[in-house]
Amino acid sequence: MKLLNPGPVTLTARVRGALAREDMCHREQEFAELTQDVIARLAAVYPEARDGYVPVLLTGSGTAAVEAMIGSLVPRGATALVVANGVYGERAAAMLDAQGKGHSLVRSDWTAPMRLDEVENRLDKGGFSHVVAVHHETTTGRINDIAALGALCKQRGVPLLLDAVSSFGGEDIRFDEWNLEACAATANKCLHGVPGIAFVLADARVFDGAAGAKRTTGATSVYLDLFRYRKEQITGFSPFTQSVQALFALQEALRELEDAGGWTKRHARYRAISSRVMEHLRAIGVELMLESPSAYSSILTAYKMPASTTYAKLHDDLKAAGFVIYAGQGQFSGSIFRIAVMGDLSDGDIDRLVVALKRSISG
Ligand SMILES: *Cc1c(COP(=O)(O)O)cnc(C)c1O
Repeated sequence: MKLLNPGPVTLTARVRGALAREDMCHREQEFAELTQDVIARLAAVYPEARDGYVPVLLTGSGTAAVEAMIGSLVPRGATALVVANGVYGERAAAMLDAQGKGHSLVRSDWTAPMRLDEVENRLDKGGFSHVVAVHHETTTGRINDIAALGALCKQRGVPLLLDAVSSFGGEDIRFDEWNLEACAATANKCLHGVPGIAFVLADARVFDGAAGAKRTTGATSVYLDLFRYRKEQITGFSPFTQSVQALFALQEALRELEDAGGWTKRHARYRAISSRVMEHLRAIGVELMLESPSAYSSILTAYKMPASTTYAKLHDDLKAAGFVIYAGQGQFSGSIFRIAVMGDLSDGDIDRLVVALKRSISG
């Protein structure tokens, strides 16, 4: 089966093989070495981040990393400005609510870009500790204009916290230009690992800096406190049991990414596959959900459901052909379908996918 949902992804044989390594105790030196190796490789995925940012690893899904980032880095009593145009932006606002922290929400329709003019108005009024945004809004496949948002953050001196769960390893991330304090991500989307390990890549000065730069935790949770993890991960250990096998897989997935030429090569591969699927679907009259091909990330495309068929039929036909596609969330349930192109997909797989899509939709 080939998974075309936005994580977890189809594993390569190499990553799957890593799951079968010998058992390891998370309180032994070899685990610390594994953790330090994964930390070094993660920090180097984006060369700009290698020296100034540290990955903090935790066991959980991508949401755990986003919640740990917001929880630990937005101080208690502070107010964050949240920019939302889909499920994940709105979830960030719900997290701040759950943590008893203030937020101001700049919400767009889920089919629309972020409202940067409104962000600017609110930043002018001041009073925000952070801006929180989503890089690739997986709800629709839109790649948000974080270059423009980040420039505003930089101009106003407000740090940016980014949900990069579905873009890390597949799309460009600028650390200095975007005034990025931290981004949250996971092992099992563009990095092609297994579910179980998530991480926050954060400005090292937050944890380790000299007095003045260093901060105290804002965490309202024991488990999701990045400061607690960072303190122990300096030597490779962790306060709680980590998913050892998921770390084995992530280490192998990162080696595989390096061998394949890094994130820029992966991005180009995703873009080529997505464009190819888009062309074929356009040829049979399937419309894009968003306004143009350039609104989409390289990673996921959302299409309108053709009136001639239903999501259930398309899903089942594709599944019978060996592919899992993805439904719309919330208000888009039944009216769209989504195709993500992460994971182990060969050119032959894409050939078969295109045939199966055409057969199901055009009969
Ligand atoms: C997948 C995803 C998440 C996290 O989802 P989990 O199910 O917790 O892994 C968060 N944000 C975005 C943008 C995502 O695509």
